Amino acid sequence: METPTQKFSIEFFPPRTEVGEAKLDKVHEDLAKLNPDFFSVTYGAGGSTRDGTRQIVLRYHEAGSTLAPHLSFGGSGEDDIRQLLAEYKSAGIKSLVALRGDIPSGMGSAVQHRYANELVEFIRKETGDHFHIDVACYPEIHPESSSYASDVEFFKRKVDAGANSAITQYFYNADAYYRFVDYCQDAGITIPIYPGIMPITNYANLARFSTNCGAEIPRWLAKRLDGFGDDIEGLRRFGIDVASELCEELLLGGAPGLHFYSMNLSNSVTQIWNDLSLSERQ
Ligand code: FAD
Repeated sequence: METPTQKFSIEFFPPRTEVGEAKLDKVHEDLAKLNPDFFSVTYGAGGSTRDGTRQIVLRYHEAGSTLAPHLSFGGSGEDDIRQLLAEYKSAGIKSLVALRGDIPSGMGSAVQHRYANELVEFIRKETGDHFHIDVACYPEIHPESSSYASDVEFFKRKVDAGANSAITQYFYNADAYYRFVDYCQDAGITIPIYPGIMPITNYANLARFSTNCGAEIPRWLAKRLDGFGDDIEGLRRFGIDVASELCEELLLGGAPGLHFYSMNLSNSVTQIWNDLSLSERQ
């Protein structure tokens, strides 16, 4: 495995309204004080957030943060992606997160559905080594995968195509991560694999989302979260403890850093970050 550098990053999604945008500006301002290695901004694979992603990325980049836009072919042709790459490159963006993406329901066959390894190949062909490329991986296995082995094999294709590092889907079971990293190493994958961390702020949303993306909420955790009922603040505080303990365990166990799914909220990430003194570990 490459010598791991401890890197800590935070993910946003592009808001759909002006109110959401103003709220995110404040969240970005607060989280920028933590000095993360980068902020990433998700991309709607149907092309639905292309402009929103680009605007947020360029605005926060100009404000002095380091940005990594997410990107996928989704419904876009190669010319659109080529143009976006050129725009990011000329703006001074140096990192991307390359994904197949999830095609929004209802768009089905109307969109081109290209695997992430093809996008990594395309980016390398168009822009050489300009961008550091992150890809996604799944310690509890992508929901469409037929087997653990095939999922890792397809992950390796992204690495062979030129990915520099990977960010995992979120999980609450550290063993899933360790076993995945070991399996990947045996399969010849040597890039750093950063755990994705989802702070818990809303149990109903988390449960729904986890079912869709194949992330397991352990039974003990589901039962505890369910017990908070309408006590949102109690749940949030408990969620911070759970995430902080998981992060500590992962970092002690050799994880090269952490990537936080902020859900455009700053409180939980800030508290976990400070609990673990992450700024001192960078
Ligand atoms: P791929 O690596 O292409 O894999 C998709 C599935 O196909 C897997 O089951 C894989 O095993 C299989 N597969 C891969 N290659 C082949 C092949 N050649 N032949 C057959 N099967 C193959 N979604 C968004 O819409 N926008 C985002 O911004 C976004 N950001 C994300 C960030 C992170 C860190 C993570 C973990 C996920 C993110 N997602 C995002 C969700 C992600 O797009 C979905 O999980 C999507 O279903 C798979 O994307 P991928 O890049 O992992 O796809």
